[in-house]
Amino acid sequence: MSEDPFGSRLERLREAGHKLTHARLTVLQVLEQSGGHITSTELLERVNAADPSIGRASVFRCLDLFTRLCFIRPTHIDNNATPTYVLMSGGHHHHIICTACNRVIEFEDCHLDELTRELEQRLNVTLTGHLLEFYGLCAHCRSADQ
Ligand SMILES: [Zn+2]
Ligand SMILES: [Zn+2]
Ligand SMILES: [Zn+2]
Repeated sequence: MSEDPFGSRLERLREAGHKLTHARLTVLQVLEQSGGHITSTELLERVNAADPSIGRASVFRCLDLFTRLCFIRPTHIDNNATPTYVLMSGGHHHHIICTACNRVIEFEDCHLDELTRELEQRLNVTLTGHLLEFYGLCAHCRSADQ
């Protein structure tokens, strides 16, 4: 699974029968430019800076739609009351979270294709993506521990 460019997300929106409205395009662009993580507060600020005519309710409708299409997932990795949205590149996103310093390490290759297929068959489901989190100690905290 490779990085999803902006165009392929637009394609999936269209295929799922959704119009490419100005609000949807703007919110998607802000998400793509976020580098993978953005809180709902930051997102609202950036959308407002890009186009103040897009209201808060319409931003949240876009987020609901993009979550359903598995473009993004809400998480609470940053210990905020507001969720952080992570971009699901190619339908997935992976973290290793240090339980001592809360550092988040990103990685791309998960080798979960086989498990995905096995779960689909065994549990009779269609899977559209996954968010994977491992917990442990980063190199820095592990050496401080010794
Ligand atoms: Zn650490
Ligand atoms: Zn991440
Ligand atoms: Zn994965």
